[in-house]
Amino acid sequence: MKVFKFGGTSVGSVETMRTVMNLVADGEQKLIVLSAMSGTTNSLVEISDYLSKKNKESALGVISSLEKKYYNVVFDLYQTKEVKEQGKKVLEERFEVIKSYTSGVFPEEGARALLAQGELISTALFTLLMQESGFNALLLPALDFMKIDSDKMPDSYFIKEKLNSIIKKQPKADYYITQGFICRNEAGEIDNLQRGGSDYTATLVGAAINSEEVQIWTDIDGFHNNDPRYVENTQKVDTLSFNEASELAYFGAKILHPQTVLPAMMNGIPVRLKNTMNPPDPGTLITSESKTTGIKAVAAKDGITAIKIRSGRMLNAYGFIKNIFEIFEFFKTSIDMITTSEVAVSVTIDDSKHLDEIVAELKEYGKVEIDRNQTIVCIVGNMIAEEKGFAAKVFTSLHDIPIRMISYGGSKHNISVLVNTNDKKATLQALSAKLLNTL
Ligand code: ADP
Ligand code: ASP
Ligand code: MG
Repeated sequence: MKVFKFGGTSVGSVETMRTVMNLVADGEQKLIVLSAMSGTTNSLVEISDYLSKKNKESALGVISSLEKKYYNVVFDLYQTKEVKEQGKKVLEERFEVIKSYTSGVFPEEGARALLAQGELISTALFTLLMQESGFNALLLPALDFMKIDSDKMPDSYFIKEKLNSIIKKQPKADYYITQGFICRNEAGEIDNLQRGGSDYTATLVGAAINSEEVQIWTDIDGFHNNDPRYVENTQKVDTLSFNEASELAYFGAKILHPQTVLPAMMNGIPVRLKNTMNPPDPGTLITSESKTTGIKAVAAKDGITAIKIRSGRMLNAYGFIKNIFEIFEFFKTSIDMITTSEVAVSVTIDDSKHLDEIVAELKEYGKVEIDRNQTIVCIVGNMIAEEKGFAAKVFTSLHDIPIRMISYGGSKHNISVLVNTNDKKATLQALSAKLLNTL
């Protein structure tokens, strides 16, 4: 059974929901993962922010416009009065939950439960649409089988056991529908796989049911060789290896949630990125092989902090780097880039929640300098770090841009540079102009 995941814009209106229904209903059994309608999760985050600041009035304002939008959707989406009533009932239940957080204290788990409402609504409405149109569609609630552990890592064993047993117990359906993004945590509370997490749900459930292919349907014809939000004339990449795609996703390519590729890679399941508005286009296929050599794409990850620790003591001192790394390990903060010299080591982190505590401990080992608002630009391709002259081409194309750190040689497939976020757009554009569009 294939898994088809549709993102927010693919289910963002009555028209696109109908497009998705016609696209999936080809008689082939599948598991369909849906995001919330586009804009909804952002609105829920806005409501949650207002409620944390005790601004009930503004929260109610956003809730009311969201509610209005959904009642219009229900009015237009269904044909019969009976199904329109069923749709309204879904909204009544969901908005009762949303509104319940506007009185009393607003706990942290409340905020997470609030964020889950978008996917709970979109999947309930879409299932009704398919059923009204005569298809054998069944909703499988993700909160019954998607689970993360205390480190916020998916519990793949639980997901596999539970999902397969749920499917077995249900009457057989042609189209199983479930929510992306949402899950339960180790305490059984509603939680999520972080923003954009529906992609990750798709490969996790794909691995759980041993799917032959996971298709991620979105608003663009596949993986592009640069970020189309910052660079014009980007081109679609036909194929990527799991390693290349996972590196690009981790380093900021928004089309894929950072962890999406891992479950597919571990289980050898091909992932195809497709455009909901242009189904005949083959999109981008991600598999274990890298079919061509050379540069494939670049991606950028913002919100990076660079930390330099300068110590006279590093001179000939073994164990220095181990001591530094142990501090990051203690605060569960992962390091993305690292460069060393005889007297200093620089690292980057993207989670600066424990920055103050980390810096306080690092000061034991030397002088510490912090650079905030940095961006990692990651250049990915097959064997690029072994290609003669390739590094020279990269740095020539960036001759106008101050580079704070360089990571080269860690793998054959990746060169990363750290630049100030103000220089990100110019960096991406220079790489497209000098490296990608000259191919
Ligand atoms: P969905 O809501 O379907 O999950 P997203 O907005 O999360 O869609 O991802 C698709 C968007 O990712 C595209 O519209 C595009 O603007 C952006 N994007 C960023 N980098 C890339 C890239 N390298 N290739 C394709 N799209 C990219
Ligand atoms: N709805 C969630 C978000 O907007 C998950 C997703 O779309 O993948 O982040
Ligand atoms: Mg997305």
